[in-house]
Amino acid sequence: MQNLYLKIRNFLTKDVKNEFESKDLAVLLRLLSILSVLYNLANSVYFAVNNSYFFAIISIPIICLYVGVFIETYENKTKFAFNMFNCTSIATAVIFTIFTGWDKNYQWILCIVCLIIFFSVETESTYKRNYMEIVLIALIAVSILSHLFGHSKKGSDVSNIIFSTVTTIYYGSSVAIISFYFSRKFNDSEIKLRNYNQKLKEMASLDTLTQLSNRRSMNDYLSSLVFEKEKKGDTFCIAIADLDFFKKINDQYGHEAGDYILKETAKIFEQTMEGRGKVARWGGEEFLFCFNDLNQEQSFNILDDMRQIIENRKFIYKDNEIHITITIGLEEYYHIVGIEGTISNADKKLYEGKSNGRNKVVM
Ligand code: GH3
Ligand code: MG
Ligand code: MG
Repeated sequence: MQNLYLKIRNFLTKDVKNEFESKDLAVLLRLLSILSVLYNLANSVYFAVNNSYFFAIISIPIICLYVGVFIETYENKTKFAFNMFNCTSIATAVIFTIFTGWDKNYQWILCIVCLIIFFSVETESTYKRNYMEIVLIALIAVSILSHLFGHSKKGSDVSNIIFSTVTTIYYGSSVAIISFYFSRKFNDSEIKLRNYNQKLKEMASLDTLTQLSNRRSMNDYLSSLVFEKEKKGDTFCIAIADLDFFKKINDQYGHEAGDYILKETAKIFEQTMEGRGKVARWGGEEFLFCFNDLNQEQSFNILDDMRQIIENRKFIYKDNEIHITITIGLEEYYHIVGIEGTISNADKKLYEGKSNGRNKVVM
C-alpha cells in the first residue's frame, strides 16, 4: 500500500526536464487537473441522473481538456498546460453558469483561475493584468447572462446534496492545494533570501585574509558598547597591537609569507582571548582588542600571554622558520576621553613600546 502511495507520489511530483520550466507549477497543474477531471465526471453523472443529457455530454470534452493539461505537464509544456487549464476553467465557468444557473456555483471556478494566475511567479505582470481583466469581465458577463438565460436545473434532493458536497470538496481542495504550493514556494524564497542576506552581512563585517572582524565591524561594536557602558557608568579596555619589523618579513620571505604570519597570529589572538573580548584587524598589521568585562590588569595578563606565545612560536613557511614579536598599547576607556581619545592613547602607548625596544605590552 505504502509502495503504491510512493509510486503515485513520485509520478505526480516527477521533475520537468526543461530547466526553464517550474516543477512546482507542473505538479500543481497535475493535481488541479486530476481534481477537475473528477469534479467534471461527478457533474456529468449528476446531469445524466437528472436527465440533462446535453450538459452530461458537454462535460466530456471538458474532461478531455483537463486530461490534456495533465499530459502536457510531462511533455515540457508547463506554460502551455497553464494556459490550457485556465482557458478550460474559464470556459467551464462561463458555459455552465449561463446555462445551468448562478445557484450551481460554477462561476467560482473563475476564482481558482484568479488564484493560480496571481500567485504564479512564472507569469509576467502584464499577462496577469490581461488575465484578470478577462476573468472579471467573464464573471460580470455570466452574472448577467445566467440570470437572463439560465433556467436553474433542479435535481432530486439526494443528487443535489451530493452535487453541492462534491462542489465544496472541489473548491476547497483546489484553493488548499494552490495556497499550499505557493506559500511553500514563497517561504522557501524568503528563507533563502534571509540566509543570503545574513551571509552578505557576515562577509561585509569580516576581514578576508584573517577572518577576524574588520575595522568597520569593530567601530560599530565600539559605538554600541560605549552607549551601553555609559548608561551603566562602566568602563572597558582597548588595546592596539602591531607586529614588529613586519616589513622585514615581507622583504625577506615574500608577501605570501607575510600573509601567512598575519593569519597565524590572528588565530593565536582568537585562541588566547577565549571569547573574553573582541579582536579585529584594524589595518595592515595592526589589530585592535576590546575587553568589555575586564579591568586593565586582567586585560594586560591576556595580552602579555599572547605576546609570549607569539614570541616563542616558530612559524614555518615553505621550510623557513620565521620568528616575530608584537608590541601592544593598552588603555582604559573613560567617558571624558571618549572612544577616539582612548584609541589614540592606546596608540601612543604602542609607539612608546616600539621606542623602548618592542615586544612588550605597555599600559
Ligand atoms: P614596526 O616594528 O615599526 O611596526 O615595523 P614594521 O616593519 O612592522 O612597520 P611598517 O609600518 O613600516 O611596515 C608594515 C608593513 O606591513 C608594510 C606593509 O607592506 C605590510 N603589510 C600591511 N598589510 C599587509 C598584508 O596584508 N600582507 C602583507 N604580507 N603585508 C602587509
Ligand atoms: Mg609593524
Ligand atoms: Mg604598523
